[in-house]
Amino acid sequence: MSVDRNKLDAMLKWYRQEVGKNLMAAIIVNREGLVMAALKGESDTEIEEDVIGGVSALVEPVLTRITEEFSSGAFGTGTFDTEEHRIIFCEAGPEAIFVTVLDSIAMVDPIFPYAYLAAEKIARIFDGRTVSPVIPKLIEDLSIQNIERKVDTLQKIKIESAEYAYKLILGGEGGVGKTSMVHRFVENSFLTDYKSTIGTSIMKKECGFEGLDSKVRFVIWDLAGQAQFKRVRQSYLSNAEAGILVYDVSRKETFDSVDDWHKEIKSVSPMISLILVGNKIDLIEDRVVSTEEGEEIAKRLNLSYIETSAKTGENINDAFKMLALQIIKKYIVTEEV
Ligand code: GDP
Ligand code: MG
Repeated sequence: MSVDRNKLDAMLKWYRQEVGKNLMAAIIVNREGLVMAALKGESDTEIEEDVIGGVSALVEPVLTRITEEFSSGAFGTGTFDTEEHRIIFCEAGPEAIFVTVLDSIAMVDPIFPYAYLAAEKIARIFDGRTVSPVIPKLIEDLSIQNIERKVDTLQKIKIESAEYAYKLILGGEGGVGKTSMVHRFVENSFLTDYKSTIGTSIMKKECGFEGLDSKVRFVIWDLAGQAQFKRVRQSYLSNAEAGILVYDVSRKETFDSVDDWHKEIKSVSPMISLILVGNKIDLIEDRVVSTEEGEEIAKRLNLSYIETSAKTGENINDAFKMLALQIIKKYIVTEEV
């Protein structure tokens, strides 16, 4: 079986960029413990070249324990702390395990969603499925608790999934592709005709997390018809736990209205987990808003940012997954094994 190593390497580089200075190494090992790809952290210029060799020697006994102790060969996700390191293990499909080695002062919780997203991408790369190597930026929620540091203890990470479904709303000007995104996500189909009837369609979709025994259930509210109906909009936006604010990268005015949408959504649902999406990136020739501009406004509004095409399907699943990860970050719990 041939694995796209270039893609694995590209993904690891994105991962290093998003995790930042606490990363000592990121290693993909197969089930026999063989290193398939590895990258050392940025801050380690001092450390000798053999850091990966050293780290994988450190990781090996823990891997053995993990496969033994976590039931039925599938261990999901866990952490292990040593005197000098904090290590996160994520199962990455049936073939690989993704190992993140952090320094001892690192917080695990904010990094965990990145590790999890990366592991899913690795699983898909091993499967030969199409996947973008980009690891999007997730905003940090400073209210979340850190997984306690327990040296020499294997801790299994679990998600306390809420039993109910989260209301998800979409914001952004008419015609930016909100309905198309939802249909892509829900049915994986692309609507070619544009219907702007008034009303709301409601769709349900679960976002699964392999190896975590956990799901985020979304009830997606899609308001047909447009923004002129201020009164409808208030009740549409209220009590929403999740939201996607969309603009069209080929229409500047939709980008310029992001601030207003953000303000309105936040005023109606202050606790919402929200992400920003630049859609229609397939329209390369017509593009007028750059990636940098998108990232800039996202940073200013403290939102995660991702670029998509509802037409080709690019990054649509990742956008919803990112949102789901943002929600589950609040429910991370551990169990000693
Ligand atoms: P909404 O008003 O925000 O819900 O936007 P729609 O989903 O109804 O889409 C508006 C128009 O843009 C439709 O003609 C879609 O076919 C088109 N569209 C949506 N997403 C994309 C995309 O990613 N790329 C391209 N080229 N067209 C898109
Ligand atoms: Mg629509």
